[in-house]
Amino acid sequence: MTATKPSNEPRSGIVQTKTIDILHERCIGAGNCAEVSPKYFDQSDTDGTVVQLREQVDDGDEFSVQQAADVCPVGAILIKK
Ligand code: SF4
Repeated sequence: MTATKPSNEPRSGIVQTKTIDILHERCIGAGNCAEVSPKYFDQSDTDGTVVQLREQVDDGDEFSVQQAADVCPVGAILIKK
């Protein structure tokens, strides 16, 4: 009997891209998100509230985007699968 080696490949072959959703009405312009993850977030020149630069999270950027969500004092950044 031959043992089958476990595979690390995703079974479905489907790559799930995470997306960012901003609750603009909550944003108080603290700017933490833009500091932590400037590729994805900036601040408006007029009122300092968040400007979303990208909707989809690139591979390898998950930690940075999650950090931005974690440091937002009002929970205005949501990350969806
Ligand atoms: S950290 Fe939160 S409150 Fe501050 S600018 Fe970003 S989304 Fe707005």
